[in-house]
Amino acid sequence: MSMLEKTPIHELDPLVRNKNFEEVVTGYTLKEAIQEANRCLECKHVPCTKGCPVNVRIPEFIHEVKEGNIEKAYDILVSENSLPAICGRVCPQETQCEGECVRGIKGEPVAIGRLERFVADAIESDQSAMIELSTSPLPRKAAVIGSGPAGLTCAVELAQGGMQVTLYEALHTIGGVLTYGIPEFRLPKVLIEKEKKKLEQLGVAVQTDTLIGRSYTIDQLQDMGYDAIFIGSGAGLPRFMNIPGESLNGVYSANEYLTRVNLMKAYEDKARTPIKKSGNVVVVGGGNVAMDAARTAKRLGSQVVSVVYRRSMEELPARAEEIHHAKEEEIIFNTLWNPVEILGDGAEVTGIRCQKMVLGEADASGRRRPVPVEHEYKEIPCDTVIIAIGQTPNPLIKMSTPRIETYDFGGIQVNEETMETNIPCMYAGGDAVTGAATVIKAMGAGKVAAKEILKQFT
Ligand code: FAD
Ligand code: SF4
Repeated sequence: MSMLEKTPIHELDPLVRNKNFEEVVTGYTLKEAIQEANRCLECKHVPCTKGCPVNVRIPEFIHEVKEGNIEKAYDILVSENSLPAICGRVCPQETQCEGECVRGIKGEPVAIGRLERFVADAIESDQSAMIELSTSPLPRKAAVIGSGPAGLTCAVELAQGGMQVTLYEALHTIGGVLTYGIPEFRLPKVLIEKEKKKLEQLGVAVQTDTLIGRSYTIDQLQDMGYDAIFIGSGAGLPRFMNIPGESLNGVYSANEYLTRVNLMKAYEDKARTPIKKSGNVVVVGGGNVAMDAARTAKRLGSQVVSVVYRRSMEELPARAEEIHHAKEEEIIFNTLWNPVEILGDGAEVTGIRCQKMVLGEADASGRRRPVPVEHEYKEIPCDTVIIAIGQTPNPLIKMSTPRIETYDFGGIQVNEETMETNIPCMYAGGDAVTGAATVIKAMGAGKVAAKEILKQFT
């Protein structure tokens, strides 16, 4: 093995795994983890740490892995990141820590994500060792809205700081996108069960099936005596293309499709939520959500699954690993095509008509803008279209609490240093503020808010 390459990791065979929901990547052994850790140069200027949104002390935790001190490595990790088993699996490391790694200049960066996952899995399999209970309870109550990574992190930090916390979740189970969006083959749900146990051990009261804005308004929560409120309600409202044919049977938002499969187990014969048995599926979009939808459709037995994306392969925003796995699993990529119409027989989808695109000048996002080519179209036959072109924050909280200030796109406005909204003692973070982003950013926001809340009451 050359020091220029990452220590390979075990993965299930692509043509076997694309028919089941088992986790694709099975992780490092201790020996492999130490071998990979030995590639780290322990750079004094810590570029990898600077590339991490929550500034995990990466060389320090990797140093402990080298020495075989996995518990110490874990303590360093969780001092900055309370969800390392999850982040090790789903963070876009190539644009964060690994993107800055000095090893990457002349070869592959250190596999920081794989090492993070290794350490977390090794220690968290012994659940009893993890929880630190507060030694000084505070006579203060907090309400946390939403149980995705933002809400979960905030609730855990507040409870560990001694506050009495109630977590309100609209769905019947916790985890947010970690549960209903990211599929089992990428993020086993047993990891969310561990978070649930953590909440129980910390005494967090979890109220599922409770939609804030309907079951209670935020004003009512304040009247109930909560000293602080954190809003982590995510960005669960799917965007559509507004093209003809979007109301045909067989058109799903990725959100609905993945929720049916992940949360309602629609693939099981006895499931109460049906899912279409598709033959040919087209997924529109190029992010993680599109990759998850395409790979899920393949696992449900679809013969041909293609992704249609209006830019080129280089601009695909999904994590590099997801794109690589999708290709291995026989997902077809139609890049530089943009849907203009979903075709049907009056009721059901029969295909999708796309226009050829070329790349023009860079737009505000820094990526080259797709420009339509006149008169060049193609039709892809399919019976299912899954739309994965983005999500925005659900407007319910704003509608039921008009005094809360939001941006035009619907995100809640906060002071970025403290995560406080324009309403005193009311905080927000994660996708509810930024629009669709990442797990680690949501988690980081939940942590900042919790620290600020605790500062006020201690
Ligand atoms: P969410 O995870 O959306 O959680 C919000 C929670 O609030 C939900 O449980 C929701 O039911 C609840 N809620 C909403 N409104 C209310 C209300 N009014 N009252 C009570 N509860 C409410 N990011 C990565 O970093 N890596 C990835 O690989 C990745 N893959 C993704 C794949 C998919 C399919 C999707 C959809 C997203 C993916 N993301 C990924 C993005 C990432 O999951 C999100 O950025 C992150 O989950 C945001 O966390 P959050 O806590 O802000 O919101
Ligand atoms: Fe190690 Fe790479 Fe970080 Fe340097 S940049 S300390 S090599 S992980």
